[in-house]
Amino acid sequence: MDQSLSSLCQERVPRYTSYPTAPHFGPDVGPQDYADWLADLDAEQPVSLYLHVPFCTALCHYCGCHTKVVNKPNVIASYGALLEAELGLIADGIGRPQQVDHIHWGGGTPSLMPAATFAAIVEAMRRHFAFAESLEHAIELDPRTVDSDLAQRLAAAGVNRASFGVQEFSQRVQTHIGRRQPFGVVVKAMTALRTVGIDAINFDLMYGLPAQTLHDVKRTAALTVELAPARIALFGYAHVPWFRKNQQLIDETLLPDAEARFDQAEQAAAVLTSAGYVRIGIDHFARPDDPLAIAAGNGEMARNFQGYTTDAAPALIGLGASSIGCLPSGYIQNAPDMITYRKRIEADELATVRGKALCDEDRVRGAVIERLMCDFGVDLDRMATDLDCPRRFLRPTESRLSSLRDKGLLDYDGHTLKMTHRGRPFVRLAAAAFDAYIDDSAARHSEAV
Ligand code: SF4
Repeated sequence: MDQSLSSLCQERVPRYTSYPTAPHFGPDVGPQDYADWLADLDAEQPVSLYLHVPFCTALCHYCGCHTKVVNKPNVIASYGALLEAELGLIADGIGRPQQVDHIHWGGGTPSLMPAATFAAIVEAMRRHFAFAESLEHAIELDPRTVDSDLAQRLAAAGVNRASFGVQEFSQRVQTHIGRRQPFGVVVKAMTALRTVGIDAINFDLMYGLPAQTLHDVKRTAALTVELAPARIALFGYAHVPWFRKNQQLIDETLLPDAEARFDQAEQAAAVLTSAGYVRIGIDHFARPDDPLAIAAGNGEMARNFQGYTTDAAPALIGLGASSIGCLPSGYIQNAPDMITYRKRIEADELATVRGKALCDEDRVRGAVIERLMCDFGVDLDRMATDLDCPRRFLRPTESRLSSLRDKGLLDYDGHTLKMTHRGRPFVRLAAAAFDAYIDDSAARHSEAV
């Protein structure tokens, strides 16, 4: 890789799972705004639910999630009761049993939820919302916690998709990241889920980890192919120890440099695509018959806080401490600290502490960024017509685009923009050209590749 591309890899830009991005949420949005926005939801449109369970039995060194170590089932059960109560508050705010198309449990480790608590929350969702026949009910799982009992409970609750945090199969790397998870554990977890009919299994893999070599990454990709998950997300480790204290346990001297990270991402991708996986967006792969691959092929894939998705619902409702929701009117975030979250919910109040009301220009720029991140290209004239908006809303920062064009990473004629094949890994940098908020937040984001 030449020097100029190497420095581009190190530019810090958002991952654009929202626009504007979370650092631009502010305290001017509160519970009353959220209540108004819920009441404004279109009765004819479905919603999606995201339930955040911020507990783990131990902290992995690389983790960037909002979670903490809790090993007491009664603490988790008590939090589950808050989620149940929050579901009621949200349903009251909407005022009718709105159709739900997608449910996603994230964390943390949602499977730590005691069986009765998990069942009660699912029951509350059924009571307050109308489940679509085609409901996708997904959960993030730590393979080390999956046994046949859990698999049966998940199937009985209607869970039909699961994501495994796999990261890397090398035991040497696992030692450096504080997560011992032998290959056999993942095999057993997959078998348990497949036995009860949960076939749609996603793997999260990582590159850029301490002491991780090109050989490790390729071997992990090859072992993944053997297990044949439906989807694979391949993320670059984002080292932000000033922001995530647990990452201070990572030995920085062992981290691969920008060029090595780039090679790792490309070589892992080559193993996956040569095994028949379709490459999707900046970091996903799917079997050709998976709905995400089909949506990507049709230009219908979307991007939200969970990354690439088939979820087309215009409202994503976040539940739990720190969770973020996205409604047509704007973004809302719940209190990240458990004390405030608990206090609010126990007082029958929505737990919103910050957010961002969307103006028309935000929506348009967000739509351009989403299409770029999903399709690697955008026809700006057509978007202005489709969205019925002034063309100036779609004006990019030309200097950001011209530096990418000069390096052969994108084609741009003032009307249409398309990443070249070589430029695809740098699409976040092109998206940043449409971000009207970017300059004051760059330091908080992860490296571009
Ligand atoms: S990576 Fe997953 S299991 Fe590890 S601490 Fe983070 S949320 Fe918990």
